[in-house]
Amino acid sequence: ARQFFVGGNFKMNGTQKDLKAIVENLNNAQLDSNAEVVIAPPALYLDFVKQNLKNSKVEVAAQNVFNKPNGAFTGEISVSQLQDLGIKWTILGHSERRNELGESDEFVASKTKYALDNGISVIWCCGESKDTRQAGETIKFVENQLAALAKEISDWKNVVVAYEPIWAIGTGLVATKEQAQEVHAAIRSWLKKNVNEKVAEETRILYGGSVNAKNCKDLAKEEDIDGFLVGGASLKPEFVEIINSKQ
Ligand code: 13P
Repeated sequence: ARQFFVGGNFKMNGTQKDLKAIVENLNNAQLDSNAEVVIAPPALYLDFVKQNLKNSKVEVAAQNVFNKPNGAFTGEISVSQLQDLGIKWTILGHSERRNELGESDEFVASKTKYALDNGISVIWCCGESKDTRQAGETIKFVENQLAALAKEISDWKNVVVAYEPIWAIGTGLVATKEQAQEVHAAIRSWLKKNVNEKVAEETRILYGGSVNAKNCKDLAKEEDIDGFLVGGASLKPEFVEIINSKQ
């Protein structure tokens, strides 16, 4: 069985005071011991969050990492810098980076390969816009994103896929459990057909987009929803209820 996974993507939110409160809330909470939990603060605070975390079950992730070892890449951070801080995870290919920063499928795939090859696990994000959904092209769109990744990587052991429909992110418009399950099942069957059965069976597929304490339990019951990538609600005490949604 796939281990339930909940990620918190803090995005560009929080200063030391806020982050300390968020971490203390996690330190003091009873978290489902069967759930894998990873939080992604802004890069500037990765070490601060790591130092303040007393709950050893909670891992820390970067929100992005570059695909070169080091050098003249202003503003970027490297895999070895993450490892220097004991960080084992990164998010890659979030739609905000794809759309606001112009990251292509190929660039995201290249960064994912580089991170995996160098020992960093990746929460790899995909998902369609409202226009793509309305045009009935959601599955084709997500399959194309997957194909770009599968071209670069062969070992999926340290990859978690996050399906995050763009129209659901930060809008309060959560996908219905049927909408999410349909795409998750399609992702799994794509993996089965184009990678192999084992990868399809074992890869966690998270849902992200307006997940909160109220809607998480129903979504978590769906067969192919193996957890969540949470934005806004990961900054709030209700994040604990989302972590525990499978209990
Ligand atoms: P919200 O939970 O704020 O909709 O954000 C989801 C997300 O983008 C997580 O990466």
